[in-house]
Amino acid sequence: MEYSLSSLIDAAEGIGLAEAARQNEMKYNEISQAEIDEKMREALDVMRQSAQRGFDPKMHSMSGMTGGQAYKLQQAVQAGITAGGGFLGRASARALAIAECNAAMGKIVAAPTAGACGILPAALLTAQEEYGLSDETLIDGLIVAGAVGEVIAARASISGAQGGCQAECGSAAAMAAAALVYIRGGSAKQCADACAFALMNVMGLVCDPVHGLVEVPCVYRNASGVAGALVAADLALAGIPSPLPPDEVIDAMKAVGEQLPPSLRETGEGGCASCPSCKRA
Ligand code: SF4
Repeated sequence: MEYSLSSLIDAAEGIGLAEAARQNEMKYNEISQAEIDEKMREALDVMRQSAQRGFDPKMHSMSGMTGGQAYKLQQAVQAGITAGGGFLGRASARALAIAECNAAMGKIVAAPTAGACGILPAALLTAQEEYGLSDETLIDGLIVAGAVGEVIAARASISGAQGGCQAECGSAAAMAAAALVYIRGGSAKQCADACAFALMNVMGLVCDPVHGLVEVPCVYRNASGVAGALVAADLALAGIPSPLPPDEVIDAMKAVGEQLPPSLRETGEGGCASCPSCKRA
């Protein structure tokens, strides 16, 4: 099987990207369409529950570094005192909630990883709220996101330890951007363009968890990751083509990841983790 966005675009000709991704999955993983859709429905349920739990103002991680911030953001958005307004604010708060749920050892869907678990569900669930989409449409979005994530994992990496946070939160933003384009009626090429925009906009983002815990800056990068996905999707939906072939952007992300020193790949030694106040704590 060739792992590329260009081959996905070809396969989507006449049937759409979700159906092409479903057919690939059925062919290579010997799974029925009903089983795929049931797995996606279960994932969607867990995503909803993790968002709900993450908005509990009393929820905190074991370290005490994170928790309760999503609730604050949600309150601020509802009070109309944020800069980004409704959709962006609600999506960011939801991404933060799910990431805080993960930090507090709650159940989440790794999408594609636990550290980046808030971005894709926040994009899809907030789009459902905003546009009145059905669960079936969201399941199509999840299938599209999964196909994009599979290509990134095969060509580059979805691991912070291997490729930096560009490979975790960046990949999640790319998956979410493609899913958003799909559920808003964009073409397969526009989905790939959105993926490219999302990745190029975080190219080089390092993995630098404070004290080696997936909390700071991770939970906040989930909030900004869904914002990046929204922008990338809007660029593509406006008909702006990626100036670079999307598969080449994925390959460039891989090359950058390989050039990152170990201190910036999940060792908790560089970046935010190297701030003097972290070392004193
Ligand atoms: S900083 Fe590292 S551990 Fe945290 S979300 Fe990004 S890749 Fe994952």
